[in-house]
Amino acid sequence: MTTITARLQQVNHRTALACQAAGRDPASVGLLAISKTQPPEAVREAHAAGQRAFGENYIQEGVEKILALHDLPLVWHMVGPVQSNKTRVVAEHFDWVQSIDRIKTAERLSAQRPDHLPPLQVCVQVNIDQAPTKAGVAPEDALALATAVSALPRLRLRGLMALPEPAPDFVAQSQDFARAKVLFDQILACQLPGWRDFDTLSIGMSADLEAAVAAGSTLLRIGTAIFGERPPR
Ligand SMILES: *Cc1c(COP(=O)(O)O)cnc(C)c1O
Repeated sequence: MTTITARLQQVNHRTALACQAAGRDPASVGLLAISKTQPPEAVREAHAAGQRAFGENYIQEGVEKILALHDLPLVWHMVGPVQSNKTRVVAEHFDWVQSIDRIKTAERLSAQRPDHLPPLQVCVQVNIDQAPTKAGVAPEDALALATAVSALPRLRLRGLMALPEPAPDFVAQSQDFARAKVLFDQILACQLPGWRDFDTLSIGMSADLEAAVAAGSTLLRIGTAIFGERPPR
């Protein structure tokens, strides 16, 4: 068994335990393997171990990996910042963009999504702990942005993504995640166009997946716990 295969099993085991503790069905929590800085071979190993969805942070690195791995049936999520002058290459190569925090970016992605591809699946990124320098829309502006995004023809609004500052323990981690869950439920209750597809609460990373599952995460974004420590960029 390769190291990546063993680590994936550990992550799935942690997730199963967290689901058990929270009384949740493990099938309701997806796993996105964050492969930023990892070589294509590492993604191949994870694919061979059954992993299908991968997330990238840097556009150029992500696109190179998508092209290098086009022989595999993978689903690719962009989880890092998307500058407006880079939207075209993202719209042409990724399946999902989780880091929508401005309507301008969303409009460009919709306009540039090629007709032969299905709609681009997107999440609104919320700056849930209101960290001053961080990406993400302010929580009080999330509904307005979600409403605008839900009207764009070539995007499909799937949910919210949040990336709070690392917190030291379960209780502290749970506070930000609980706020994200409340906001998710509020937007869901508004029944925006296409609201039946609004099913994704993307919270939880290697260090805090248990708290995220307890709070209602439907998609964990796990890098280090699957691939090991990242080499410096
Ligand atoms: C790097 C990254 C992750 C994964 O972080 P780990 O702590 O390595 O699990 C998740 N989400 C985003 C947006 C990231 O940039």
